[in-house]
Amino acid sequence: MRIVDIKIEKLRINLKKPFKIAFAVQDYADNVIVKVVTDEGYFGLGEAAPFAPVTGETADGVVETLKLFKSCLIGMDPLNIEGIHTLMNRLIVGNTAAKAAIDIALYDIKGKILSQPLYKVLGGYDNKIQTDMTIGIDTPENMAMEAKQRVNDDGFRILKVKAGINPSEDIKALQLIRKAVGDDIRLRVDANQGYCVNDAIAVLKEFEKIGVEAVEQCLPYWNLDGSKLIREKVNLKVMLDETIHSPMDAAKACKIDAADILNIKLMKCGGLYNALKINAIAEANNVRCMVGCMLESKIAITAGASLVAAKKNITEADCDSFMYCSDPENGMKGGFEIDKDIFTLLDKPGLGIEFDF
Ligand code: MG
Repeated sequence: MRIVDIKIEKLRINLKKPFKIAFAVQDYADNVIVKVVTDEGYFGLGEAAPFAPVTGETADGVVETLKLFKSCLIGMDPLNIEGIHTLMNRLIVGNTAAKAAIDIALYDIKGKILSQPLYKVLGGYDNKIQTDMTIGIDTPENMAMEAKQRVNDDGFRILKVKAGINPSEDIKALQLIRKAVGDDIRLRVDANQGYCVNDAIAVLKEFEKIGVEAVEQCLPYWNLDGSKLIREKVNLKVMLDETIHSPMDAAKACKIDAADILNIKLMKCGGLYNALKINAIAEANNVRCMVGCMLESKIAITAGASLVAAKKNITEADCDSFMYCSDPENGMKGGFEIDKDIFTLLDKPGLGIEFDF
């Protein structure tokens, strides 16, 4: 089987309301979708969700990178995923969202050839995941109100609260949220690199009292030693996100015991191929994983959710971003069914998404 064409198209995703984190505010995302076409009638869908502050990529840059990949990948066997990643890495360093788009499409093709859903191709452990819902930064009062709505109206049982701009406001927000949602709701926090080591230790000790179970990326992405130090001083789980792009980053973090949980994102690591490696490294070091997302449509979200379901060591899912979109389906039927915070992956080949372009 040979790749005969790769279609590349930009996809604008508009959000219901602006989404604020420690270092950015977004009210839309410009993503890029691909369709990898083979000479035997199979095709695979993929998506790049570039986020410049994290992956260093823009949508225009992704389109150019994908054109470069297209010029070299035509004629290759789509099942030679190892060879295609090797070639992409030789052509250009980084550019992990563009690589993820190709990677997801290749795994979609693999599932279609095998006539198996992606979660079975990747490991097959389960077909369901429970996702959290993220609360963006706002006034503590507004955050508590939104948290209550998400729990009472939408049925979410795990909330991920954005923080990292103002430590005392963060503590106030978490106190009000806990009061608003009660003790049974699991809370985690994402500081998105916003704290220094001293602030992080002080704030996390307050979060402990509120029953926050885990805090993600307290420190700037480069401060791996600081993360180890924080982990020694607090009694909640320390997660790393922006620090962990590649399997090598995961190996370094595990080697010095810098994290309890690693947040894998397909856009940071270049797709499922490297995500599987990161999870294997983590599991061998007794570290658990979560799969998170950028502002992604159902194509990349289905790939991420399939990975969570497939793997026993990936115990947490933050696969909520498409639900902030004004049009969550974006014309893409399938992938999974949603019941409150549970996604059930469809037993359809590959991603199981009905969408063509
Ligand atoms: Mg994060």
